[in-house]
Amino acid sequence: MSNNKYKVLLIEDESNIRSFVETILEANDYQVITTATCEQGIMLFSSHTPDFVILDLGLPDKDGLEFVKKVREGSNTPILVLSARTNEADKVEALDCGANDYVTKPFGTAELMARVRVALRNRHQNTDNGRVSGEKFTLYDLVIDYNRRLVFMGENEVKLTQTEYNILALLSKHTGKVLTYSAIIKEIWGALDVGGIKKLQVNMANIRKKLGSKPGDNRYVINELGVGYRIGEENM
Ligand code: CA
Repeated sequence: MSNNKYKVLLIEDESNIRSFVETILEANDYQVITTATCEQGIMLFSSHTPDFVILDLGLPDKDGLEFVKKVREGSNTPILVLSARTNEADKVEALDCGANDYVTKPFGTAELMARVRVALRNRHQNTDNGRVSGEKFTLYDLVIDYNRRLVFMGENEVKLTQTEYNILALLSKHTGKVLTYSAIIKEIWGALDVGGIKKLQVNMANIRKKLGSKPGDNRYVINELGVGYRIGEENM
C-alpha cells in the first residue's frame, strides 16, 4: 500500500550523499522526493507536503537555514539537518531557527534511521497537543508527573529543585529534539545572561547525578557537546 508510506523530502546537493540517503530511506519503506537546491526544496515542500524533511545546510543556491525559516512560517513538519562535523555554530543556529535535530556527516545508516523515527514519533505527539493534567512522561525507569511536578526513578521519588524540575520537564516535552543552550536558558531564566550556560551546566550536572547517571552515561539526558541537551533513548 504505497500511499501509506511516509513521504520524505531530501534536500542535498552532493549526489553521493543524496543517493545514499535515498537508498536507505527507500529500503526502509519511505517514499522519497529529492532535490539539490534550496529554492526547489521550498517549492517541493509546498506542492508535496512531505511528512519529514532531511536538509543539507550547504546548498549551492541558498543557505539551508533559509529553508528552515521559510517552512517554519507555517508548518511544524520535522526537519532533520545534515551538518559537517566542525560546524557547531551552524547546528545551533539551525536548531534555534526551528530544525528538530541534526546528524553529523559522516553518519551511519542506523543513526540516520533512528533520528528519522524519533522525529516522526514526536510529530504524532505534537498533533495531540495540550497535555491532559495528570499526564506522565516515561523513559526507562524515569517518570515525570507533570500534574504534581514530581519525578520518580522506578518507585523512588527524585528530589529536584524547582529549576532542575523545570529543565527536565522542558527537555521531556521535546523528547528526541536537541534543545540548544540558549533555547533552554531563555525558557528557564527568561533571558540570555552571561553566566547562563554555566548555571545550566551546574543544574544539569545535579539533575544527572540525582537520576543516577555516571559521567558519559547517556541513558536519560544526552549532552550534545557544544550544542545543547536532549532527553531520549540512549542509542541516538
Ligand atoms: Ca552541501
